[in-house]
Amino acid sequence: MTEKNWYFSIFGGYLYEVSSEEESVIDAFQIPLRKRPDSSCKKCHGRFYTSYNKTQQHFNLCPKCSKKCIDAEKIIQKRNAKKSK
Ligand SMILES: [Zn+2]
Repeated sequence: MTEKNWYFSIFGGYLYEVSSEEESVIDAFQIPLRKRPDSSCKKCHGRFYTSYNKTQQHFNLCPKCSKKCIDAEKIIQKRNAKKSK
């Protein structure tokens, strides 16, 4: 069984699972998560966004779940991997 990780699409506004092989082709606008947002969160109810920004056309992330769920290490790793290319 391949390991799957949760991601959130800033422009799509949805959560989805990605296998570890697919992760390398994902663009920077997909946010890696360590776990699925809590559906009992009072701010986002597990959707991971609180509202939609019409001007910039992306979803505003839930501040509470961002702190808890975003995999910052993975973002840094990805950034460093791009630099070394
Ligand atoms: Zn939340």
